[in-house]
Amino acid sequence: QIIVLRLGHRPERDKRITTHVGLTARAFGAEGLLLASDDRAIADNIESVARRWGGNFYVKNNVNWKKEIQSWKNNGGKVCHLSMYGLNLSDVESDIKNWHKIMIIVGAEKVPPEVYDMADLNVAVGNQPHSEVAAISVTMDRISDYDPLKQEFGDAELSIVPTSRGKKVIDNTNSDNINNN
Ligand code: SAM
Repeated sequence: QIIVLRLGHRPERDKRITTHVGLTARAFGAEGLLLASDDRAIADNIESVARRWGGNFYVKNNVNWKKEIQSWKNNGGKVCHLSMYGLNLSDVESDIKNWHKIMIIVGAEKVPPEVYDMADLNVAVGNQPHSEVAAISVTMDRISDYDPLKQEFGDAELSIVPTSRGKKVIDNTNSDNINNN
């Protein structure tokens, strides 16, 4: 069980990247996104894409991050905070693989020092600055015990038939309908 906690989302400038955080978390196998800011429109947008492409991914808007971390830990969950200052993922991924309930935290700008203290591990996806989206995808790929790229999503309205050229999208709400655009 994996959930992602997004800290520091600024509605006026982080809409696109937070949407990508949510969609990437879903695509790589997280069950939901906790958004520690109030942006109902972003939460609805991610959930509506998620519904169309299948599965049960949810977004919880405007959470209190401290309470969420505390209650996750009280319920036996472990917390992996992604930060370029942390321990290199390559050195700790086998420890994380032994965890059963994992909260992955990503920030935007400066992350409060308390997050570093509350995390079970502060983990760097390489010790260079890059992006929360890249950090989530590499981490989830490394710690997964199946191939997240091959994951199927149940009850999808839309699904893709992999093809070497062009685009094949099946509209599952209409069994005759394959779109070749
Ligand atoms: N200098 C900032 C800081 O205080 O970490 C970088 C912020 S970065 C734009 C936003 C988020 O991306 C960070 O909070 C972290 O979660 C993630 N991130 C960026 N580079 C990373 C790396 N090398 N390893 C893990 N996470 C990273």
